[in-house]
Amino acid sequence: MTRTALKEMKAPKPKKCKNPACGISFPPQRLGQRVCSPKCALAIAPTNQERARKAIQQRERREIRTAKERVKSRADHMREAQALFNQWIRLRDAHLGCVSCDKPATWNGQWHASHFLSVGSSPEHRFNPLNVHKACSVCNNHLSGNIHGYRPELERRIGIEAVEALFGPCEPKRYTIPELQEIKVDCWAKIKELKGRAA
Ligand SMILES: [Zn+2]
Ligand SMILES: [Zn+2]
Repeated sequence: MTRTALKEMKAPKPKKCKNPACGISFPPQRLGQRVCSPKCALAIAPTNQERARKAIQQRERREIRTAKERVKSRADHMREAQALFNQWIRLRDAHLGCVSCDKPATWNGQWHASHFLSVGSSPEHRFNPLNVHKACSVCNNHLSGNIHGYRPELERRIGIEAVEALFGPCEPKRYTIPELQEIKVDCWAKIKELKGRAA
């Protein structure tokens, strides 16, 4: 092999200079080099003005986000927290069938998060993982949770004592906005973890 051939083999693939006014091909000397020369780097560097404008835009976006979060009512936070909690329940039970009937995990319809004790009658168990399980939309929507099928399967899953404890005395709960925000953050983390594991 000749000297020049060897040199060509080692030479990095030429890149096109990212300065639109230049555009020549150059052999990059380091990873991620975008321009052929310091001169071209300077030519395409954002000006201080551009940088300042970007920073202002970023700050505005952040302020809008906080303002939106501030005007949310407790009901808004409740709805969002419940939606995230339910999403987590469906992921947690992804490998299981319907808690109330014999539809298997492979059933191709819509899955819901079904409360054993309803949110209306037992709001204190609204975010209790023992009280909420994945159910098919048929049981959850049309059979009011199909409670006769729910209880025996729930007893199998969490034990008779835990089911009976759900009926026991429980402090009434009124979730504050910070509490609901905490539930949302917590559910997000759990969802992310389960999704990461599945991927
Ligand atoms: Zn250049
Ligand atoms: Zn079902």
